[in-house]
Amino acid sequence: RSKMKNGNSCSFYDPELQALLENQAELETDIVRAIAHDEFSAYFQPQINANGKITGAEALIRWHHPSKGLIAPNDFIPIAEQNGVIQKLQNTVLRDICILINELNSKQLIDDSFKVSINISQVQFNSTTLKTELLNVVNDYNVNPSNIKLEITESMLSGDIASVISQIDELKQQGFIFSIDDFGTGYSCLTHLSSFSVNELKVDKSFIDKILDKGTGFSIVQTIINLGKSLNLTVVAEGVETEEQFTVLKTMSVDMIQGYLIAKPMNFDDYLCWHQSY
Ligand code: C2E
Ligand code: MG
Ligand code: MG
Ligand code: MG
Repeated sequence: RSKMKNGNSCSFYDPELQALLENQAELETDIVRAIAHDEFSAYFQPQINANGKITGAEALIRWHHPSKGLIAPNDFIPIAEQNGVIQKLQNTVLRDICILINELNSKQLIDDSFKVSINISQVQFNSTTLKTELLNVVNDYNVNPSNIKLEITESMLSGDIASVISQIDELKQQGFIFSIDDFGTGYSCLTHLSSFSVNELKVDKSFIDKILDKGTGFSIVQTIINLGKSLNLTVVAEGVETEEQFTVLKTMSVDMIQGYLIAKPMNFDDYLCWHQSY
C-alpha cells in the first residue's frame, strides 16, 4: 500500500481495492444488461435423508457472463439487492424451480414430499409484495407452494418481531415451507426462535467442517441438532464433504444432508440426469 500526498488531503492507493471497486462498478451496470440477455439461471444441489433417499434440492443462482464466465452469487447478489434487480433474479430462480418440479413430476420421479428451496434475500423478505410475487410465479406454472422451501437467515428474524411473524405466517398459510439457512452463524434470539413457525434449520457448513474434532466441534453440532429437534424442526446439515462426516451426522439423528459428498450444484439438465440415475 502506498500513500500519496495531494494538496492538504491524503489519499490512499490500494491497487487491490481499486480493482475490486472497478469490478464492482462494472458488474453493477452489467447486471441490468445481463437480465435482458437472460444470463442468469438456477443450479440445483440435491438433499438426501439419512437413508439416502432424495428429499429435495436447493436452487442456487449462477450468472453465465459472456466474457467473465460463470459468476458466483456472493459476487453479485449484494449488488442486485442495492440496485433493485433482486426481484427479477428471484423470479428467474423461482421459474427454473417450477419448471424442474413439473419436469420431475411428469417423469414420475418425485412425490409431494419433494421440496426445492430458494434463498430469499433480506430486501425481498422485507418487501410487502413478496407473497404476491411468489404466488404469481407458482400459479403461472401450476406448482403447489408446498413444494417450495423459502430459505431465510437468522438475521432476518430480528428487528420488528411482530411483522416478521406475520410475514412468515402469511406465506405459510399459502403452503410455503420455511427454512433457516446458515444456522449458528448469525444473531438469533433463542427466546424468539420458538415464536417463528419455521419448519427447518440448516446447520452451517462452518460447523460441519469441525464435526470430526473430538470435543467442541462435535458437541456444537450435536447441540444445534438437539435444539432443532426440541423445537420440532427438520434439521439439515450443509456442506457435507466426506463419508466420515455423514456417518457422524447419522449418529446425531440429522434428518437431511447436502454437500459435495452427494453432488455439487448442477445446471438444469445435469441435475435432471443425476436425479434420474441416482
Ligand atoms: P447458501 O444458501 O448457504 O448456499 C450454500 C453454498 O455452499 C452454495 O454456494 C453451495 O454451492 C455451497 N456448497 C454446498 N455444498 C458444499 C460443500 O460440500 N463444500 C463447499 N465448499 N461448498 C458447498 P453458492 O452457490 O456460491 O452460494 C453462496 C450463497 O449465495 C448462498 O449460500 C446464498 O446465501 C446466496 N445465494 C445463492 N443463490 C441465491 C439466490 O437465488 N438468491 C439469493 N438471494 N441468494 C442466493
Ligand atoms: Mg441456502
Ligand atoms: Mg447455507
Ligand atoms: Mg450462506
